[in-house]
Amino acid sequence: MSLTGAAPECRPGCGACCIAPSITRPIPGMPQGKPAGVPCIQLLPDMRCAIFGDPSRPDFCGGLQPEHEMCGSDREHAIHWLADLERATAPHH
Ligand code: SF4
Ligand code: SF4
Repeated sequence: MSLTGAAPECRPGCGACCIAPSITRPIPGMPQGKPAGVPCIQLLPDMRCAIFGDPSRPDFCGGLQPEHEMCGSDREHAIHWLADLERATAPHH
């Protein structure tokens, strides 16, 4: 695959994607999924996923790919960006 303007790598130690969004699929240990802003139970202390590559990992997680707009230059940016997205896409206000 060759894309111009290469997508960024997921930043080590970020974990914003595993904290800020709500996940409505079952996660091992969180059968109801998780609310926005709550760290996933499978998020390791070093912000890696404990079930990466495992079939029990929700599709949602694989669908979130690093991109400049979301990841920004630091974790604070990503947390805010994802929280804004969450508000924009929430089914109920
Ligand atoms: S916001 Fe970007 S860098 Fe942070 S966890 Fe998500 S993909 Fe990785
Ligand atoms: S299952 Fe893994 S990738 Fe998905 S939110 Fe939890 S820690 Fe992150």
